[in-house]
Parts: sequence; structure tokens; C-alpha cells
Amino acid sequence: MTLATLARALLLALPALVVGCACVVLQAPAAATAVAVGLAAYLPAAVGFLLGRRQRAAMAERANDLVEALIDAIPDPIHIKRRGGRYVMVNEAFARYHGTSRQQVLDDGLVGRTCDVANHALTLQEDEQILAGGALTKEEHTVRRHTGEEVFRIISKHRSVDISGEPVVVGIDHHITQWRVAERELTQALEREMALRMRTERFVQDLIDVMPDTILIKDASSRTVMVNDAAARIRHMTKEQLIGLNALDLAPRPEVGELSLSEDVRVLAGEEVVKEEAGVLPVTGEECHRIVIKRRCFNVDGNPVVVSIQHYVTEWRLAERELRRLAQEDVLTGIANRRYFSAEAERAMHAVERNGQPLSLLLLDLDHFKDINDQHGHNVGDEVLAEMVRRLREVLRKSDLPGRWGGEEFIALLHGDAEAAMAVAERVRLAVADTPFATSHGPVAVTLSGGCARHRPGDTLSRLVGRADKALYAAKHQGRNRILDASEQPDTLPASLSGELG
Ligand code: GH3
Ligand code: MG
Ligand code: MG
Repeated sequence: MTLATLARALLLALPALVVGCACVVLQAPAAATAVAVGLAAYLPAAVGFLLGRRQRAAMAERANDLVEALIDAIPDPIHIKRRGGRYVMVNEAFARYHGTSRQQVLDDGLVGRTCDVANHALTLQEDEQILAGGALTKEEHTVRRHTGEEVFRIISKHRSVDISGEPVVVGIDHHITQWRVAERELTQALEREMALRMRTERFVQDLIDVMPDTILIKDASSRTVMVNDAAARIRHMTKEQLIGLNALDLAPRPEVGELSLSEDVRVLAGEEVVKEEAGVLPVTGEECHRIVIKRRCFNVDGNPVVVSIQHYVTEWRLAERELRRLAQEDVLTGIANRRYFSAEAERAMHAVERNGQPLSLLLLDLDHFKDINDQHGHNVGDEVLAEMVRRLREVLRKSDLPGRWGGEEFIALLHGDAEAAMAVAERVRLAVADTPFATSHGPVAVTLSGGCARHRPGDTLSRLVGRADKALYAAKHQGRNRILDASEQPDTLPASLSGELG
């Protein structure tokens, strides 16, 4: 036993001892002495009890202050409620949020006098579950009645026990209004943006659908992202079917697709492609001519895309070709007319001037053609001319150039020397003379005469034709149905012919 313990025991026993001694001195009766001593013995315990209670009360108050100070430091509203919904502690943020003071809340035990009954009942039910050991975290979106202010908060509740050992509900409201409002504004802005984008795309689609040219818009990997009605129509596909296809899928042949892909790469790098193409239509296989324009554009997202426009010029090109044909061909026989033959022959003569290759000219004239016309009519004459050309073409090679020089006179430029040309001419003569021409008036016997001249360096077409013409006239005068070589003809014509040649 320590000295302090001994001293404490003596101190506790002191009131009983003093009362006992006083009773002895005053010679009090034994029963009274016993009662007095007994009561005196309780005195230290009573004093101690009273002192302890004050101390605990002071401690409880300090603990309360500490908890209050702690929860006040938290910016989110915090409340502590007892069973039945009575608030026993709230922080400043809570009071501020409810537009009241902490003291008011604690005095009233509740917040707001006009609270929603249904909501209040729900809260009480929730609190009961929390007090039974559950926990709760929920997001709540409310519009505050008195201010009309919109509030988003995450409410988190859990069970605890207060200083007096009572179970309580501790609730913390984490306000996320600004985030949720910002989020909503962002969503709305995105929706507006989406709507604008859709309207823009719709407008672009409508715009390109109006165009008669086919239009394809391709992304950076050459995949079709937008097409117009004309493009779908020409391919006999829907626009939806065309979306997502690339140049290889759309091309008639792989090499065409590869070329298109490489063009797209260049276009995406900023180059522009403008070219004319001749080909066939995708489905019908019809001949087509188109001007292709490819240019880089930027879409609504700012990404580069290839805009490919095909402007079909088939009708113009076919009309041009027809015009050219009409300007170059003889209408009756389909071979080169005199003008086109002359131009082509001069070109060929220039070429042989450079390369020194032999070139010959053949001039053919049907014998007594006037008689055929007179006998069978002009139409039969025409039939004979057409058949004459057919037989001529059969004998000539692809490289030879035949033409109609005049009425029943034909001309041909042949690659090769006069000997080879004479052989060809002879074959032509026989092809005509050996078999009568089948006409609408029955078979007609036809012969021709011809002159053949070899091209000489420095020749003009008229000089070359002039020599062939002389040989032709000589052939006529030697009895027709023959071809004569101009080189074997005398430079000056016999007096009997010179008058006829004028
Ligand atoms: P030759 O043997 O001397 O050449 O006698 P030819 O009758 O053939 O010669 P000529 O020059 O006297 O007559 C040529 C005829 O060819 C006259 C002309 O009416 C005819 N002719 C010219 N062009 C055409 C044509 O396009 N169609 C027809 N049917 N006849 C034509
Ligand atoms: Mg003639
Ligand atoms: Mg004739």
C-alpha cells in the first residue's frame, strides 16, 4: 500500500471518524451514533459523485464543441439526427444551406416548417433503416421551394452513436450542383452541335443531290462517306450501299482502283486532279466520257476529305466524234473524203521524208461508170461505188490509207515501193473485175483502171497524184481494166493524150 493510497483512505474515512468522535464526546446514544457515523461515511462518496458529474458534463460540452468545430470545417452540410428525425447537431454549412442558424435548428429540432409530408415520411423510413445498421448513398435532384434554386447533391447517411450512447444518423450532403449543371449545359451544347451538324450534313446532301454530276466524298482512307443521287443512279445502287466502299470496291478493274487510290493520297496532300476519262458505265457497259475533278475539302470536323466529281460529257464527245467522222469520211462509202485523205497523206509524206521509207500512191477510176448509171440508175451506181470500196478495203492492209478522190475515182496511199503497190493494185483490179457486183438490179460487171506512182523525196501530194493520174490516163487509153506504173510512163505524154489531160 502506498502512502498516497493510505492518505486517501484516511481522508475518505475522516468524516465518519470526526462524527464518531463527536458522538463519543457528546455521549450520544449508540443507535444515533451508528446512524450518524454511517451517514458521515457516505459523505465523501456523495461529494465525489457530484464533482464527477460536473466534470463529465464539462467534458461532454468540450467534446461537443470539438465535434462542432470539426464539422464546421467541412464545407458540405452535415447533420446528426436522433430516431424520430430530431436534429441534434448540424454544421454551419447545413444551417446556411437551409437559410437558418444552427441554434434555430437545434432549438426546433427540425428544418423548414413547410416540409413535404411524403418526403418527410420517406426520410424517416430511410433513417430507421440506417439506425438498423444500413448505409445509404444516393443522388438527389431537387428544386428548393423557397428559392426555386435547383440543387444536385449526393446524400450519404450512416449510423453512429452519440456521446450519450444514443444511436444517431449522421448525414452528409455533397453538393454537386455546379458539376451537374455544367454537365447538362455541355450535353445541351453537344446536342445543339449535333443538331447543327445534322442540319449541315442534310443541307450538303440536298445540295449535292441537286447536281446532275456524280459526286463522291471520301475520307482519309478513301472510303465513301457521302454520295449523291446521281452517283447512286449510275451504279444502280442505293446511297447507303455505296457508303463505306473504297476506290478498289468501286473500280471496274484493280489497276483502275489502285490509280484512284494513289490519286486520293495526292489529293489529300493538297493536289488537285482534273482529267478526262473514257470508259464504260458501271452497270450498262455503255461507252462513257467524263471529266473527273478531285479536290481536297475539310468536313465539319475539320478533317480532310476527297471530293470527287464526275462530269459526264459522253453526249458531247460522241457528237464531236460524229462531226469529225462526217468531216473526214465520205458519206456514201465511209472511207476518207478527199480533204481528210489529203491531210493524212501529207502527214504520211512528211514522215517518210524523215524516215526514208517507201510510199506509193494508187489512183483508181471505174471504167465506163457513166454507162452503169445510165443503164441501171444512179442508185445502182451508188451500190457499185459502195461495193467497190468494200472490195478495195478487203485487199488493202490496215496501214494503207484509202480515200474517195472524186465521183468514181478512188485513191490509196500504200506503204511500200511501187512494185509492192502494183501488186496490191493488181489484186484490187482482179477483186473488182473477176466477180460481177451484186446490185438491186442484178449482177453488174465492173472494171477499173489505175495508175501507180512512187513517192520521190521532195514530192508534193499534187505532184505525186499528177504522176499517178498520167499513168491512169494511159491505162484508160490502153484499153482500160489495167493498172500502169507511172515510173514506166514517158515524162511527156503522147500527143494523142495531152489534149485529154488538159
Ligand atoms: P471512163 O471509163 O473514161 O472513166 O468513163 P466514165 O463513164 O467512168 O467517166 P465519166 O467521167 O464520163 O463519168 C463518170 C460518172 O460518174 C459521171 C457521174 O455522173 C458519175 N458519178 C459521179 N459521182 C457519182 C456518185 O456519187 N454516184 C453515182 N451513182 N454516180 C456518180
Ligand atoms: Mg472519172
Ligand atoms: Mg470512170
